[in-house]
Amino acid sequence: MRTAIHRIEIPTIMEVDSNRLSHVGSYLERAGIAQVVVFFGDGIRALFGETILTSIHNKPSLKLLDTFDYDDIHLEKLMPLAFTLPKNTDAIIGIGGGKVLDTAKYIAFLNNLPFISIPTSTSNDGFSSSGCSLLIDGRRTSVQAAMPFGIIVDLDVIKNAPKKFIFSGLGDIVSKITAIYDWYYEEQNHAARVDDFAAMLARKSVNSIVRMPYTDITERYFLKEIVDSLTMSGIAMEIAGSSAPASGSEHLISHALDKLLDTPQLHGIQVGVATYLMSLVQKHRFERIEKFLGDTGFFSYVETLGMKAEDFEAAIDLAPSIKPSRHTFIHIEENRLLAKKLLRENEILKRILK
Ligand SMILES: [Zn+2]
Repeated sequence: MRTAIHRIEIPTIMEVDSNRLSHVGSYLERAGIAQVVVFFGDGIRALFGETILTSIHNKPSLKLLDTFDYDDIHLEKLMPLAFTLPKNTDAIIGIGGGKVLDTAKYIAFLNNLPFISIPTSTSNDGFSSSGCSLLIDGRRTSVQAAMPFGIIVDLDVIKNAPKKFIFSGLGDIVSKITAIYDWYYEEQNHAARVDDFAAMLARKSVNSIVRMPYTDITERYFLKEIVDSLTMSGIAMEIAGSSAPASGSEHLISHALDKLLDTPQLHGIQVGVATYLMSLVQKHRFERIEKFLGDTGFFSYVETLGMKAEDFEAAIDLAPSIKPSRHTFIHIEENRLLAKKLLRENEILKRILK
């Protein structure tokens, strides 16, 4: 018997640099797209609408069919919109934060249309992955869609976004270290089969940035590295056919915090703290994570947020039930006890959590 070769979808348009928004029309034209619908996130039209729409209008081969200002991730609200798109739409463009990207990505998926992702911040790997997070019956639910056809990131825009989004992106990147370790642990315990190529890509995505020299986390090359790392992480999940290469016990703790707290912090902020904690539990590469999150200013930023150790304790207890079918480090009681002990005893965790 011959095993089938693994085939995946990867983005056709991949533009990451300064001054990209004013060239959106050119990228669409080059990719053979003619008629588009644009979704703007909250307040995004006022900031970048003119630049993007002018770049589309300037291309005679392109036609703007409609635009929407939309930031609502309720499935029941996006459904009517999804099935009343203008006829002959070639592609859907989403520009803004996670909500509008998830909405536009899902509407594109329902219509079997290419989706072009233009994030205005890089706080997590959502802009480059096939999954989206929607509200179904009031509950945040991960829904499978398709890989973006295009990813366009304007580094001038990312640079001027609030710094918390950069810290959040760094937290989401560094989590690959604990996630991959969890994945191999699951395989050793016959609870999963690791896709080695996906694991290699996810490992590369984090290793290149933690070893990179920089003077300021908002400098161009560093920001580009953040975008590339998050994109590779999205592709690794696509290859694996699951979130395992990018999401392990540290993500389960963050998902638990989302459930427990009225106002959770940004995804990558919670994930970054949980990554440091779980690397100590795993006794794997914690020095590297400590140095990276310390040098970049991530820990100092977290210190200003007033996150509570007791919330993490509760999240550690809840974490295994978020994905009962998995078998990560946090699914083992002994490790949960150790994690809670570390919250009380580790100097950095004591300093950054109240
Ligand atoms: Zn994540």
